[in-house]
Amino acid sequence: MLKVDQEWIDRVDAQRAGFRETVERWDAADLPPCPSCDSHDTARVSAGLVGRSIHLAAATTKIRLLPNGHPADYYCNQCKSYFNGPDGGQVKDMGQGRHAQIGEPLT
Ligand SMILES: [Zn+2]
Repeated sequence: MLKVDQEWIDRVDAQRAGFRETVERWDAADLPPCPSCDSHDTARVSAGLVGRSIHLAAATTKIRLLPNGHPADYYCNQCKSYFNGPDGGQVKDMGQGRHAQIGEPLT
């Protein structure tokens, strides 16, 4: 889903050739739905906060940028969890402190 209007894209496209096509390609990307809530409002996880990717992430909900780390391949914008694609393994629950670590005393 686009988060910006065409005027915004025009402005960036004027500075970065091909930006519009890149945004449209990303925005039309067919991403796997969230395994937790079945939402199709999901994003591809991309590491690094540099130039073009920042503009891309600002333009479409289909990209989730992380400054560092790569918890999983995809991110659900609805339930805010990371997950891997159907062929990529298991859902990774990023909830904080809800799961005891191995070896941690249970209270
Ligand atoms: Zn979800």
